[in-house]
Amino acid sequence: MKSAWVDSEAQAAIDRYARAGIGRDLALRVYTTRLLGCDPKLVLHGGGNTSLKTSMADLFGDEVAVLCVKGSGSDMANVEPADLPAVRLDRLRKLRARAALGDEDIVRIQRASLIAPAAPNPSVEILLHAFLPHPFVDHTHANAVLSIVDQPDGEVICSELYDGRASVVPYVRPGFLLAKAAAEIYDAKPAIEGLILHKHGIVTFGGSAREAYERMIALVTLAEERLQKNRKAVFVTTHLPQAIAPVAAVAPILRGACSAKVDEIEGAWRRMVLDFRATPAILNFVNGGELARYGQAGVVTPDHTIRTKNWPLVTAAPERDRLDDFKRTASVAVAAFVERYQDYFARQNARVGGIKRPLDPLPRVALVPGLGLFGLGRSKKEAGIAADLAQCAVEIITDAEAIGRFQSISEDEMFDMEYWPLEQAKLGAAAEKPLAGQIAVITGAGGAIGAATAKAFAAAGAEVALLDIDRRATADKAEAIGATALACDVTDAASVREAFARVVEAFGGVDIVVSNAGAAWQGRIGEVDEELLRKSFELNFYGHQRVAQAAVKIMLAQGTGGCLLFNVSKQAVNPGPNFGPYGLPKAATLFLVRQYAVDYGAAGIRANAVNADRVRSGLLTDAFIAERAKARGVSEKDYLSGNLLGREVTAEDVAQAFLHQALELKTTGDVTTVDGGNIAAALR
Ligand SMILES: [Zn+2]
Repeated sequence: MKSAWVDSEAQAAIDRYARAGIGRDLALRVYTTRLLGCDPKLVLHGGGNTSLKTSMADLFGDEVAVLCVKGSGSDMANVEPADLPAVRLDRLRKLRARAALGDEDIVRIQRASLIAPAAPNPSVEILLHAFLPHPFVDHTHANAVLSIVDQPDGEVICSELYDGRASVVPYVRPGFLLAKAAAEIYDAKPAIEGLILHKHGIVTFGGSAREAYERMIALVTLAEERLQKNRKAVFVTTHLPQAIAPVAAVAPILRGACSAKVDEIEGAWRRMVLDFRATPAILNFVNGGELARYGQAGVVTPDHTIRTKNWPLVTAAPERDRLDDFKRTASVAVAAFVERYQDYFARQNARVGGIKRPLDPLPRVALVPGLGLFGLGRSKKEAGIAADLAQCAVEIITDAEAIGRFQSISEDEMFDMEYWPLEQAKLGAAAEKPLAGQIAVITGAGGAIGAATAKAFAAAGAEVALLDIDRRATADKAEAIGATALACDVTDAASVREAFARVVEAFGGVDIVVSNAGAAWQGRIGEVDEELLRKSFELNFYGHQRVAQAAVKIMLAQGTGGCLLFNVSKQAVNPGPNFGPYGLPKAATLFLVRQYAVDYGAAGIRANAVNADRVRSGLLTDAFIAERAKARGVSEKDYLSGNLLGREVTAEDVAQAFLHQALELKTTGDVTTVDGGNIAAALR
């Protein structure tokens, strides 16, 4: 591992922050924190922390000694000075004299000692930084160090490896007691450059930002070099089926198995979004014959627990053409996982006096032999974090096994970390959005109604895929709402299959489809060219059928119901002159909705439609509106609001109707009109 320190970049950071009135030490503290944070072999997702001891004026203008320490859970890679809240150092240091200190007391004392009252909560490892004397302290969960300390004889190996340069601190849960133990071990050998935290990570320190940082690089490099010595080959591959099923077939089954019914609301499911990974290292790991041992041995560092749980789910290898077997074994494996978690909770909660409330017992990482690994979360972001940490664990455990045998912390220690209130606080307590965990696909998403619907579903917490025949029409719209854009021609069965496979590979499945792609053709029905009529049926009927069929296949594999939504038209019930080529396939689509409602109601799949009228869009262009208004001798505004309520209907109004239908768990076979009132087009 090489130092990434560059003098000119360090100077640029000093200059840049000086303009904002920030001193040299804090500027360099930010600079090296980012250097550490940018290396995934040192730090991932809010793990690790750094600090600076300096002085600054408090709110009364008095200069006081402070500890600027990274805020809890914030990301080191893009840290700013404001992410390092300043806490009065003298007060923190006084705490070292205490024999014990409760979690609530730590939080109250640190908040009461902040220089800026509204600053973020400091890192849970604040006291570790406070009790060490150095101006700069750096802490990471470096992969190479973890591979060495996560061994039964990790302390012995480290004592030899770091003789005189770093001392080893036996495992203690992060917090007050670890901070005290680390400070005592430091005091015994004040010439050391760092501390190795057994089963947890590494701390380095120094008089300057550069010294602390480069000591980190040097000590981690020693661990990396040690891992290259006397390696044995790992892992011996187990027997696998000849042909493994593809991710697009496996993910919905796994996703369904890892979903849970919501007891309070009939028809509601707690679903997960999936993030799939497969690298040669991951495959080597999941295909190993001893996966059940090393893959279930526990976390590589306690900080991962809240994101990955203490163990992953391990499934059987999914054989192509035998997916029913996989579905059965996967649900057995998940049930066993849940039971194991509940037993663990009950046993551990009894040990600590029955004071804890259980977290949900579903897995956050799934290892699938032959295929790879999945991260699971209530959003794509959460799933990605779980997958990143799992991928990191694969590397650490592989290296640990190559030089010895991977060993994690004990079950008691895992529980103390997982149910430590300060650690759980990192996940935040914000209320979940109504479509959290759900995956929505919208066709014709480049158009006004499709784009507005995508936006409304993303705002309601769904992961959204925008499909359009012209991917460029949706790329910007998708980016603006953090969604995915895919090309899909709904008149081409292969294109539809391909697009749904991409959605499943990206998110793990599909829960909601808004089948919205369409186009209008005109012609007097007695004289219309049959080719044109067929072309309209191809898009305005068969397009919906292909999309619904592809979605239902995935929904049935998941086994958690689903929601099919169709953009029908008032033409389906109230034909306009010369609109036969458009209205006829739409009328067939209206019955398609009812057919899906009938055939798949028992599987919990709902099918509903929206009948919208006169919405400014790709079908009803500005030029067309001007022409129709002129033909009727009314203004454009009056043309658009020529309905019972006298109100113009917008794409956003249609989007809200789709959203309501997605949320109405007891409604299927329904048609909602969004047309401002048109009694001739009323359904009954
Ligand atoms: Zn740590």
